[in-house]
Amino acid sequence: MEILTNMTWEERWHPLREEWVVVAAHRQDRPWSGERITANEIVLPDHVADCYLCPGNQRVSGKVNPNYDQIFVFDNDHPSVSFDAPNVDQPSSSVYQSRPAHGVSRVVCYSPRHNLTLAELPTNEITELLRTWQEQYLDLGDRPEIEHVLIFENKGEAVGVSNPHPHCQIYANNFVFKTIANEVAAGRQYFSDNQRVLFQDIIRAEKEDGRRIIAENDSAIAFIPYFARYAYEVFVAPKATHPHIAALSDDERRDLAEVLRSVLIKFDNLWKMPFPYVMPLHQAPTDGGDHSTFHFHIEFHPPLRKPNLLKYLAGPEIGGGNFLSDTSAEDKAAELRSMSDVHYKSEAKT
Ligand SMILES: [Zn+2]
Ligand SMILES: [Zn+2]
Repeated sequence: MEILTNMTWEERWHPLREEWVVVAAHRQDRPWSGERITANEIVLPDHVADCYLCPGNQRVSGKVNPNYDQIFVFDNDHPSVSFDAPNVDQPSSSVYQSRPAHGVSRVVCYSPRHNLTLAELPTNEITELLRTWQEQYLDLGDRPEIEHVLIFENKGEAVGVSNPHPHCQIYANNFVFKTIANEVAAGRQYFSDNQRVLFQDIIRAEKEDGRRIIAENDSAIAFIPYFARYAYEVFVAPKATHPHIAALSDDERRDLAEVLRSVLIKFDNLWKMPFPYVMPLHQAPTDGGDHSTFHFHIEFHPPLRKPNLLKYLAGPEIGGGNFLSDTSAEDKAAELRSMSDVHYKSEAKT
């Protein structure tokens, strides 16, 4: 076998998921003959008459959006979880169980402008969005039936989103999502073993190494974690441990908005296209438990490895449940970090 230099070929432990990630970064230049998605950049108008998120438009429910001029939150017309969900019959076998899909599903429009993305919003508008997420977490998490509030944005057709209007969703559920439950358990175990917060040790390790840091200021940091599963997976977090976004101070919120914006702009600048991703906020459950050692963070899971080249989840991921990464976190972080902090679209205008 050919001896390859400058490659990463090893297994890395993912301490938050408590599983191995196989990194085989010598495979990334293997010939590719698979499907490609196309990113045709179409110039979009500010307002689209049949967009159900644009101000003043009627939604499928018949409700009409107000003429909002900043951020607009509403209950999803096609909720996945709702307190109006029907009662269900128990299955005949005791090995199976069912229950009503109770919860709250909401949509948050970031801006009245149809043709903007989160990456193109100024820092003060991203700061306002963080404030809205704080309010939503507290409002929904306070309800006794709600055990967890999942705030997430799916962006781009590569992750199945056909409407480009900038928005995210909120699922407030009667259960704690599996990934969060796992992070809670891993963090508790780590704290009881080491008397230190797991995520603090991750931040410390990333700062000591330095090669995977993407952006940083006084109180916030962004990095591709050592154990990344996706090529451009980025974590954005306050440096201090807060179980949820609502615990951030005004200064921390502003710092987080700045670092978040920097990451988003670098993403778009990578291939001069709106960069698709799934972006969940990982916050402590609202189940009444002690989550003082849970460290709130935002994760980006971008599906693309190269422009128009999807990371397919296949045998190892779907079949086995562990990820195989074709890229080195260090290389990808260097690539991302080298991108400009000025969005390519605004550069073109000046
Ligand atoms: Zn719209
Ligand atoms: Zn997480």
